[in-house]
Amino acid sequence: MKIVDVIYRYEAQEPPARPLPGNSDAARSRLDGGNRVFAALLERVQDESGHIEHVIPVEPHDLGIAANTTVTPKHRPFAAVVGCADARAPVELVFNEGPNNLFVIRVAGNGPGTDALGSLKYAVEHLDSLKLIVVLGHSGCGALTAAVDVFLNPGEYLALATKPSLRTMLDRMLLVVQTCANKLLATFGPQLAQTKGYRRALIEASIVTNAALSAYSIQEELGIGENASLQVVYGVYLLETHAVWSPRRGSKTGGGLAMAPKDLAGFVELGNALVESERIASLVRS
Ligand SMILES: [Zn+2]
Repeated sequence: MKIVDVIYRYEAQEPPARPLPGNSDAARSRLDGGNRVFAALLERVQDESGHIEHVIPVEPHDLGIAANTTVTPKHRPFAAVVGCADARAPVELVFNEGPNNLFVIRVAGNGPGTDALGSLKYAVEHLDSLKLIVVLGHSGCGALTAAVDVFLNPGEYLALATKPSLRTMLDRMLLVVQTCANKLLATFGPQLAQTKGYRRALIEASIVTNAALSAYSIQEELGIGENASLQVVYGVYLLETHAVWSPRRGSKTGGGLAMAPKDLAGFVELGNALVESERIASLVRS
């Protein structure tokens, strides 16, 4: 296996090596592109031997180390990311970004709880640089796995009866799991519930739907409209391939981030894209 150095390189340049994105579409393309770079880098690790040096250019101003200045860096992230607390999904690395680029909130299950929403509200109201809000789930999420296991074995809920903080998180996810179970069983037939692949397929379908629902909730609670200069998107970081995935109509691979659903029809469309995706189909067959 290769040796890989991921290097944050601070180099004073005018204009900066990586100017900040000017709008939501550019911010989304930058994150999608950054993730493709990260995923490709780790794919090369598996395939080849030798040494890779991967450089992420960073502006000295962003760490307050520019020459001839003692000024505190201006807070200027271009995207806010609500990610899971899971240590295997490091947000800046996943998107090939450095300090002062992302406003990151991490909480188990990447849900729109009060503190997460309050933090986002602060960012939206105070940071002019912000162009995009991202909800990032990840495959194999322990929070959604726990919700699926409670759904499949309701007796396990008793262990949570005296733990309100955990119960609150789980209750919201159970609705997502129930909806995904209905969709999977309606598509693949009720016999699916007896198969080995059902639990994994249900976990992974729930992870995508949960991220989409979080993105929708954030969009609605922050009052971000269709033509707003700020967009809300979501995706799932796949631990297996290191790529971000969001199954959707019109995209064969579902690579990259997707716009948050706008209404019920958007969720129905997502449900259809999910069950038609190769990833969920292969889990069902496994
Ligand atoms: Zn997680």
